[in-house]
Amino acid sequence: MTRPLVIPFFIAHQGCPHRCVFCNQHAITGQSAGSFPDVARLGQEIAASLARPRRAERGRVQVAFYGGSFTCLPAARQRELLGAVRPFLAEGVVDEIRLSTRPDYINVGIVDFLKRHGVGTVELGIQSMSDQVLRAGGRGHTVEDSERAIECVRGGGLKVGVQLMVGLPGDRPGLLFKGAAKLAAMRPDLVRIYPTVVLRGSGLERRYRAGEYRPMSLARAVAVSGRVKEIFDGGGVRVVRIGLQATDTIQDDIVAGPYHPAFGEMVLSRNLYRKVRSALAAAKESARLELRVAAADQSVLRGPGNVNLKRLAAKGLFDNVDLIFEDDRRRGTVAVAAG
Ligand code: SF4
Repeated sequence: MTRPLVIPFFIAHQGCPHRCVFCNQHAITGQSAGSFPDVARLGQEIAASLARPRRAERGRVQVAFYGGSFTCLPAARQRELLGAVRPFLAEGVVDEIRLSTRPDYINVGIVDFLKRHGVGTVELGIQSMSDQVLRAGGRGHTVEDSERAIECVRGGGLKVGVQLMVGLPGDRPGLLFKGAAKLAAMRPDLVRIYPTVVLRGSGLERRYRAGEYRPMSLARAVAVSGRVKEIFDGGGVRVVRIGLQATDTIQDDIVAGPYHPAFGEMVLSRNLYRKVRSALAAAKESARLELRVAAADQSVLRGPGNVNLKRLAAKGLFDNVDLIFEDDRRRGTVAVAAG
């Protein structure tokens, strides 16, 4: 599938009356709260993005409003931002708008308004499927709000994305996995998985410094996120991002926690290793085996410094294996057969 061209705008913290413990939108988006996007410049930036050279095969073009809670903005501001994209939608050079918001700022009227203004996808900051964790994180909404919002967005004919966090205060893996399974059963169109990090200026920083919150180690966050991804994979739900978006400033703003610019790749590598290990272990009676993996997964399979292949060899699973990379194999899939 051709990847869409996403033209992102960050509405840093604008419109959001809440202050979740983990949130410091200025740090996440790398922009000052309240300063962007300037509507006059928005059109110019879309035009400039569209004018850049691109590969011949054209995916859908989406303008995205991220980094805040879009539907918490005053209606006039929402209209202004969406209106700035309208000429590009009318011309057919932008296909749709996507935006992120809170589950408790969604209802039938809002979905209808968004649809009329060219929005095709709404991403909901679900973060947890446990009321206890939502309370501990100061989210200000409930699981029921999230479930209602998912149905409402879908019922209005828009695609629905969900964002889920790993390592929130008060959470534990068993609770998280149960929540992920519940969410997967609701069949959202896409999922983003974010590890919880302690951002400078966030409520979590105070708790961390007071010894009341301990972030996950990187290795644990990778393992837990990997399991969450497996749950969504098992439910046929697409995970489009794992890990925080790297920005120029994010590392300066992180006080502690499992941040790594290649976090998503580490999770994919962990999951693929486990899949390959099971497939080879199940087939190891054969004298010679062929292991087939997607060509695009080559570096994910190997892991940094070929660590995954070395681990397989150390377990005696890689002695008689011919490794074949296939261009047309779906990423994340593995086939093992007698060679
Ligand atoms: S709802 Fe979103 S923007 Fe608002 S405080 Fe929470 S994480 Fe930050």
